[in-house]
Amino acid sequence: MNASADLVFRIATALIIAAWIITRLIVQKKVSGAEKTTKVNASKERRSYMLVGLSMVPAKFYVLGGLSGVASMALPDSLRWVGMALGALGCVLFAWTHAALGKNWSGVLEIAKEHTLVTHGPYKLIRHPMYSAFFLMGIGILLVSSNWLVGGVLVAAIAYMYFGRVHNEEKMMLDQFGDDYQAYMRRTGRLIPRATVPFSG
Ligand code: SAH
Repeated sequence: MNASADLVFRIATALIIAAWIITRLIVQKKVSGAEKTTKVNASKERRSYMLVGLSMVPAKFYVLGGLSGVASMALPDSLRWVGMALGALGCVLFAWTHAALGKNWSGVLEIAKEHTLVTHGPYKLIRHPMYSAFFLMGIGILLVSSNWLVGGVLVAAIAYMYFGRVHNEEKMMLDQFGDDYQAYMRRTGRLIPRATVPFSG
């Protein structure tokens, strides 16, 4: 691996992580203090939220020049560029979902006092575009870093959070929004639009 290409891939990984963290810090400040009326699986959800945060640690080591030669997958550069594009797409989608959700966002399963059902922007076709964005950023980092430890830990934590949460989240939304959410479920897919992929959920 030539040193300048390696540097480009480290910088790309750093940019994906930075965009992810900075978006979150901005949003967390904006929503802090919003009153909640419902909380579901509070401690389990807090644990899986923290787990995703912790799962970024190997990626941060990689960015700082650690892990050289450790857990490397030696992917071709072309695939690593594809990872960069996926990661960039994930960052854009992530920022867009936060812009659309506004104060309805929470890192855990909660309903706010003034909660509204968002069905515009990325939510028009997909019920969980933020989780789609996580997978895009995670898979992007897996490919860009070409390191199974960096990407594997991250993607596994995202998958653990997603599969442990999505059914409970939809049940919570159904309890809160009833027929409106039921109708919304019929016209959307979970992670990818239903119109193009009939079995997307
Ligand atoms: N699952 C969504 C949102 C993730 S944030 C996504 O992947 O884009 C999680 C919080 O968002 C949940 O606690 C819930 O209160 C809220 N939420 C989920 N879908 C929503 C929607 N369509 N409109 C408003 N709030 C929503």
